[in-house]
Amino acid sequence: MLEGRNLTVRYGGFTALNDLSVQLRSGMVTGLIGPNGAGKSTLFSVLAGSVVPTTGQVLFGGEDVTSRPPVLRARLGLGRSFQLSRDLAGLTVLENLLVAQPQRVLEGIGAALFRRRAIKARQAHMIEKARGLLLRVDLWRLADQPSAALSGGQKKLLDLCRVLMLEPSFILLDEPSAGVNPTRIGEITEFIRSLVADGVSFGMVEHNMGMVAALCDQVYALAEGKLVAEGTFQAVTANDDVARAYLGVGA
Ligand code: ADP
Ligand code: MG
Repeated sequence: MLEGRNLTVRYGGFTALNDLSVQLRSGMVTGLIGPNGAGKSTLFSVLAGSVVPTTGQVLFGGEDVTSRPPVLRARLGLGRSFQLSRDLAGLTVLENLLVAQPQRVLEGIGAALFRRRAIKARQAHMIEKARGLLLRVDLWRLADQPSAALSGGQKKLLDLCRVLMLEPSFILLDEPSAGVNPTRIGEITEFIRSLVADGVSFGMVEHNMGMVAALCDQVYALAEGKLVAEGTFQAVTANDDVARAYLGVGA
């Protein structure tokens, strides 16, 4: 459903992705693992559209989206979260979700002169949608609190809810467990699992192997911009080349 074909990304003389091909299928969570600097975030940026590959193609739902910017991919149903939560600390928890559709809000300001009632209805609809999401992750009770006051795990859940406001069919998650207290990782895992049951598909970069084992039906291992192994979690983590890639860079 989301496919990268022969992707190469060069930054000056440095090759961050080297002729890499991946297929992230719908109805499941595809994991992306590998040591720091392997190119995982770069691959996500290429799939989401914020980095244009030097060569290669990205297909989403069979359509070539290589030259489409992130906003247009988002409209097709492709969402992403970032490795580091974006700083919207000045906003309340609820406001964080209401700013999730910048281009529609702008349309709204233009149209407001003519269609105030329609705008009001849309705002009410967005608040209702935000409420439903915040209830699911037990953050509705904190809706009026500044998001800066949330724990690392709650911020990750809020990030994911912000992506969900756009009703994506496919979400790229970059390290959903980063900065999260290990005792709370289970809550994020369960939320992702419930979203998969709702029909949302995921690609996930993750270092927490418990989380990868719990969620991922298919795993790709990267090192130095290349694919080292692919398959089930068990098969990929038992692969000698994968072990070597981690030891070579991380140890
Ligand atoms: P990972 O997410 O697997 O840790 P990244 O995709 O962030 O790896 O980075 C892969 C490599 O590309 C790293 O060596 C990084 O320093 C380099 N890199 C990433 N982004 C840029 C950039 N904008 N300019 C130059 N080098 C970059
Ligand atoms: Mg990264």
